[in-house]
Amino acid sequence: MSENCIFCNIASKRIPSHKVYEDEGTFAFKDISPKAPIHIIIIPKKHIVCLSDVSYGEEQILGHIQIVASKISKQFKEMKNGFRLINNCGVDGGQTVFHIHYHLLGGRVFGWPPG
Ligand code: AMP
Ligand code: ZN
Repeated sequence: MSENCIFCNIASKRIPSHKVYEDEGTFAFKDISPKAPIHIIIIPKKHIVCLSDVSYGEEQILGHIQIVASKISKQFKEMKNGFRLINNCGVDGGQTVFHIHYHLLGGRVFGWPPG
């Protein structure tokens, strides 16, 4: 828990969010500024700053998030044909909240390459 981190505060429910999933180590909630019909943020409860900060030993945390993303996608008919799971890492990657998180986006067709 990092006191000034918005996502730590969301995971601990000090800041309200629209929760879509929670387990012992993971929390998922609707993005406040959605970029697609379905836009969910999935975070580990552990405060990790970004993907470039992860260590061997954190495979379970990161792998688990992908399983959670897959399970959440099945709850939404909008994602029956697919979805996109994104991590923005660092300033050049477009990261604005420095608690590692994955965007689960669905409900429209996404372009490639991303902007
Ligand atoms: P990123 O730019 O990859 O760091 O993504 C951060 C995301 O967090 C953005 O899509 C924001 O809209 C979202 N966000 C920021 N604050 C909140 C909040 N209080 N509740 C839900 N989503 C948020
Ligand atoms: Zn945090």
